Amino acid sequence: MSLLSARHLCKSYQIKSYQFAQKNQLDAIKDISFDLEKGKTLAIVGESGSGKSTLARQVIGIEKPTAGEVYFNNQVMQYNDKKMRRERFKNIRMIFQNPYESLNPQARIGKMLEEVLRINTRLTDKQRKEKVAETLSRVGLLSEHRHRYPHMFSGGQRQRIAIARAIILEPQVIIADEPLSALDVSIQAQILNLLQELQEEMGISYLFISHDLNVVEHVADDVMVMYRGEVVEQGTVAQIFDQP
Ligand code: ADP
Ligand code: ADP
Repeated sequence: MSLLSARHLCKSYQIKSYQFAQKNQLDAIKDISFDLEKGKTLAIVGESGSGKSTLARQVIGIEKPTAGEVYFNNQVMQYNDKKMRRERFKNIRMIFQNPYESLNPQARIGKMLEEVLRINTRLTDKQRKEKVAETLSRVGLLSEHRHRYPHMFSGGQRQRIAIARAIILEPQVIIADEPLSALDVSIQAQILNLLQELQEEMGISYLFISHDLNVVEHVADDVMVMYRGEVVEQGTVAQIFDQP
């Protein structure tokens, strides 16, 4: 059994239509199934509006699917089970396209990282400080950087901070939602290398949402192509990219 799987996942939204009296239903994702093995990368490719973020929200557990199941470590996700949702939250972390939007501008980054540990672990004050220093070094930042606020960093460094926040709880899965799109091309390669290093060192599995096929071919083991909420192609990188 895989680390993370989805089976026949569907999510519909009720859309209020002002044009018509009745409510309309929008099927944001339809019948999505996938398997992600430990230490592997599954790329999710699709144009804007194809349902990639909707899929991510069902997998993290912040939204309840209309139908279908998500399995993590052989356990079916119970969306009403608060304790399980919390556990899932620690084990499946997200990074986003624009790190600045997801970082609190008022918080020194050391404090922000300590807070993640305070909420989610039983580490002591001293242990939290040590873990923050270790994590900063892991993502290529200096321990002294902990005193700075997010605006004092470059775009690439901010993405490193967001990655630090994602890995500090030692998650098994990271959902990376277009993690390179907001960065300069020269910085993209550095962040990509960092993500791959972390995969090797920590055994992290990635759900890697991207529209950049060069990046996908480079990082992914498996690929799922979505169009208007449905999977239109699915297979290994070789199967998807080496077609005649
Ligand atoms: P992507 O991440 O691939 O751009 P999304 O998952 O954001 O796609 O969106 C898929 C479809 O679902 C779009 O048509 C979008 O407008 C719709 N959608 C997403 N979230 C909601 C929501 N909360 N309420 C209504 N419609 C939504
Ligand atoms: P908790 O449920 O532990 O109280 P919060 O929901 O308050 O956590 O989140 C604390 C901070 O961590 C927020 O800034 C949030 O954006 C971020 N965060 C929460 N969950 C994740 C996750 N799975 N991946 C990445 N960042 C997360």
